[in-house]
Amino acid sequence: MKKQEKTKSGRLRTLLLLDRIMICILAAVMVCAILAFAAVILSSGATAVDGRDLETDPIRIYIDQGHNPAPHHNLGAEGNGLYEQDLTFQIGCMLAELLREDGRFEVCLSRPNESSVLGTDQNSSLQARVDGAAQFEADYFISLHINSFTDASANGIEVHTAGRSGDSYAFGKCLLNGMLDTTGLKSRGMKQSADLYVLKNATMPAVLLEMGFISNQNDAAFLQQHPDLFAKGIYDGIVDHFDASYITHVNMLLCIIAITAVLMTILIIVGNVFLRKIKQKK
Ligand SMILES: [Zn+2]
Repeated sequence: MKKQEKTKSGRLRTLLLLDRIMICILAAVMVCAILAFAAVILSSGATAVDGRDLETDPIRIYIDQGHNPAPHHNLGAEGNGLYEQDLTFQIGCMLAELLREDGRFEVCLSRPNESSVLGTDQNSSLQARVDGAAQFEADYFISLHINSFTDASANGIEVHTAGRSGDSYAFGKCLLNGMLDTTGLKSRGMKQSADLYVLKNATMPAVLLEMGFISNQNDAAFLQQHPDLFAKGIYDGIVDHFDASYITHVNMLLCIIAITAVLMTILIIVGNVFLRKIKQKK
């Protein structure tokens, strides 16, 4: 009889100890979960990508404003009283300002001034853009253009990349979505253009944006009145791309910790209730 009672109180002590250990684990897991969730929330507006601290090592973006100013070579399209090279110059400058204000980016413009001219003919002008980006050691190459077509009804935004996958494609898609959001213009989607000179020869991920049609009355009027919305859309797309890759690469681990922590918490609570029931029975 006494022996039985001793065993019983021994078991009870073990159960009580187990109970305390579980409460301690529960508390630790809850703290981990809160920290992990806080890290996930704070990750928007990330200051690090792939372990790179953007405050000391910013992402370098080369903005090619597409063409040269008149009366030089490599001029852009003309339509509805507007000139492609003037609009792309303006949008490029606005985009550069947004990126510089952000602090996580370093920018190089192909035409820092209205009078800047690249190359001495069509080919050397294109090569000068590719060389400029390489010299700047750009991480990304963005070429700004405006479309033109004989049929004035053609309209909308499209983004060209050399391939249909990889970083250029993912980056281009973010930029397209950014512009669609801010301008509300029609989407013509992502286009594969492996033969476009700058896409073919750039030594870093590269995209070419066709920001509407200068030959279309509505697109042209919109470009003239709201060039800032194209710059803002491209900027938003760039930020989206890096926030998304930050979450994918760095915070994936924290997400897993958070989910595991929640699951463990549930398990421990269920286990605890079960243990109490056993204790009550005893
Ligand atoms: Zn062009």
